[in-house]
Amino acid sequence: MSIPAATPQGEVEQHDASRPEPLPGDAGLQAGPVEPVEPATSTKPAESQAEPAEPLATAITERDRHFMRLALEAAEEARAAGEVPVGAVLVRGDEVVATGFNHPIGAHDPSAHAEMAALRAAGAALRNYRLPGCELYVTLEPCLMCAGAIMHARIARVVYGARDPKTGACGSVVDAFSNGQLNHHTGVAGGVLETECGEALRAFFAERRRASREARREARRAAGLEPGVADNSR
Ligand SMILES: [Zn+2]
Repeated sequence: MSIPAATPQGEVEQHDASRPEPLPGDAGLQAGPVEPVEPATSTKPAESQAEPAEPLATAITERDRHFMRLALEAAEEARAAGEVPVGAVLVRGDEVVATGFNHPIGAHDPSAHAEMAALRAAGAALRNYRLPGCELYVTLEPCLMCAGAIMHARIARVVYGARDPKTGACGSVVDAFSNGQLNHHTGVAGGVLETECGEALRAFFAERRRASREARREARRAAGLEPGVADNSR
């Protein structure tokens, strides 16, 4: 039995192509009463011909916010490594199976998004390339690459924080999961801790722009093209 050859990845923009500006006021993040949602516990031994299952309900609960906070902690690991701060947590029931953070720069790997890292780690941990019954929490709306991997893994539900108007594949740019020909497995919920998730990204890009301006100013100063600080003062 031959393993299908890996298809070359198409153009996948990095998360840092520009600062994502999550759009306020979208549906998804409701501060209303917490409704219990059944955790994804139905883990069957994976079969490549797994029967289509109804995507899990997408109501947002306190449980979702709990796991999104863990994803934010993973995002902080990315930020500390100088990478765009996106983090992901892969959950089965109430068990965290794996976490991942965005690290394409350090890994020299365009596919090293947080979701991919979490999927790979979870597959290794569970010794299974299918992850039915699992949920993936990620601080930024998945891109098309990650949406594809999430579907291949048969993830039951994906929950994201900030929307990504540049590369989001859960409705912001394209809506991969709504295509019934592609997706029979994965439910989607967006906007969980949207403000916190978006703020982590905004702060990162603001700091990077500030550092970049400072570096340019320093270079001009060194070249004698710009007066020093002392000359600017009154
Ligand atoms: Zn991605």
